[in-house]
Amino acid sequence: MPAAPIPYNESERLEALSSLCLLDTPQDPALTLMTELAATIFKVPIAVVSLVDVGRQWFKAKVGLPILETPRDHAFCAYAIHSSNSLVILDATKDERFSDNPLVTGPPYIRFYAGIPLLLKPGLAIGTLCVIGDQPRSTFTKQEEDILQQLSTLVLARIRTLQAVDYLDPLTKLPNRARFEDDLKFHFQNSPALTAPMHAAVADVCSAAHYRSMMNALGADYTDQFVLAAKDRLVKAIYPAQLYRVDTATFGFMLTRDHAEQLMSAMDILSSINNHAVELNGIPQLITYSIGIARLRANTTASEMLRLLFAAAEQAREQNRIFSFYEIEQDQSRKRSFSILAALTEALRAEGQLSLHYQPQIDLKSGRCCGVEALLRWRHPLFGHISPAEFIPMAEKTALMKRITRWVLQSGLRQAYLWQKAGHTFKLALNVSALDLDRANFVEELEEFIKNSGADPTMLELEFTEGAISANPDRVYERLTQIRHLGVNLAIDDFGTGYSNLNYLKNIPASSLKIDQSFIRSIFIDHRDSAIVQAMINLGHDLGFRILAEGVETEQSFAQLKSWGCDEAQGYWMSKPLTPAEFEKWIASKPHN
Ligand code: C2E
Ligand code: CA
Ligand code: CA
Repeated sequence: MPAAPIPYNESERLEALSSLCLLDTPQDPALTLMTELAATIFKVPIAVVSLVDVGRQWFKAKVGLPILETPRDHAFCAYAIHSSNSLVILDATKDERFSDNPLVTGPPYIRFYAGIPLLLKPGLAIGTLCVIGDQPRSTFTKQEEDILQQLSTLVLARIRTLQAVDYLDPLTKLPNRARFEDDLKFHFQNSPALTAPMHAAVADVCSAAHYRSMMNALGADYTDQFVLAAKDRLVKAIYPAQLYRVDTATFGFMLTRDHAEQLMSAMDILSSINNHAVELNGIPQLITYSIGIARLRANTTASEMLRLLFAAAEQAREQNRIFSFYEIEQDQSRKRSFSILAALTEALRAEGQLSLHYQPQIDLKSGRCCGVEALLRWRHPLFGHISPAEFIPMAEKTALMKRITRWVLQSGLRQAYLWQKAGHTFKLALNVSALDLDRANFVEELEEFIKNSGADPTMLELEFTEGAISANPDRVYERLTQIRHLGVNLAIDDFGTGYSNLNYLKNIPASSLKIDQSFIRSIFIDHRDSAIVQAMINLGHDLGFRILAEGVETEQSFAQLKSWGCDEAQGYWMSKPLTPAEFEKWIASKPHN
């Protein structure tokens, strides 16, 4: 049995077929009705809408056949797609192409076949509408062929509407994101001159936060109108390029080589209309476009391209510009942030990636270790050691920070309990982020963790930065007071680097100030820093705080701070952060402890 020949434009044909998104989708009632109609008119048991795919024909609609697909080698329709009008086989047993075909020698015992190719354009058939009988025929008249032809026109029309439903955004009547991705894909695969400039862009019409608050305050109908107004302006600005709606308040478009110079005029137009208010229901609304643009590259996938475009648009918004071209360095740092955040989620679940190291804090008068600060360490199996200075600020932008703090509190408290039980009297300090103090149930959680651990709260300290207070002073003060009521001490971390307002210092329920290491490092280099440190020590003392100097790296600075009356010091000169076992060895070697 000879296999059907492959059409000369097979790859274009398959691409067109797959872009219709019909394969392996549910049967469509309208198409099924059309096959029933065909079977009735032609008095045959079987009629199908067959799509000829790589190695199979798949039936999008069928009557009289129990199966959904057959191998392409057996498909009559694989022959029919070569024809420009129809393929008619009056008796398959007498046709050498089909006489030993399993569909002829076995069920459904095909004898008669008439198929019309479903042509998207001349020469490009995705499949057929065909009728199949188990009895041979002597003729198939011109009139019959015309009827089958008309039915196939109906089938094609239905296929196009199905596609419109899947690809059209109902509000704006623009092609949607799926279509944008498919069209991008099409351009990657079909434009041989990809070296020639051709750009894609996405345009946000307002910030996500603005969209949300507009939705909350004015409702969905109003935001729909806003999106439509923003669309109208964009359509005009980028004409004749096609606009797509790729997200709630984001549009996409592509600029072919011919359009490239229009990019300049589009930029001009958008710059001139940006920030101009439109009036919707009597309320003026600003449309603030931020547009990310990138050149299409042959080795990029559509979804990767979309990611780059969104990143560029976000960058434009962050930098308060209308346009931003995708920049590779920016993107690589985003990619690293993204993979770090993903890996961090895993690290919080996995055993053994996260640990706490402890750095001693020394009382400058007695020379004893009066405290330890718990510092988070993360060793990833592939990335190796990742500094908290890198991952904590990233995590603070996400809900992950909450989980990190929980992890730190629980393991720090467990360690505190063990050392207290062993008779140690130093306090143990834990870092919390500004966001923790803003969280409604943070204090309850802390209380519960302390209870569960059995640790003495009066020997604990929480470190937070000045930044924690500036955002919402009243609420944070209340939290801090509640924490003090649990017996836990509070320390202001990185003091001197943030928003220092003496008024807030006066009332804050903290007991220590930790002077940031940037000042300590330069007390012998910059006389202004030396003056600032002395002033901070004196002022802090006047307000009743104990003062700790961070980042003490030399014997000289240790001695200087002591002479200035600083209470405590922490830094590499005394010890770097240590594992619990290393710390126990270290403290055992200190005669006074
Ligand atoms: P930080 O709270 O100011 O912690 C002190 C940092 O200075 C630590 O860096 C410590 O290793 C380092 N350090 C200590 N002594 C010296 C010194 O003499 N010289 C120099 N150059 N550095 C010194 P690390 O461990 O890399 O932590 C960086 C930051 O990450 C911390 O700054 C803190 O803001 C954050 N972090 C670390 N662990 C946690 C945690 O468990 N929770 C939260 N929220 N943040 C944490
Ligand atoms: Ca700290
Ligand atoms: Ca610090």
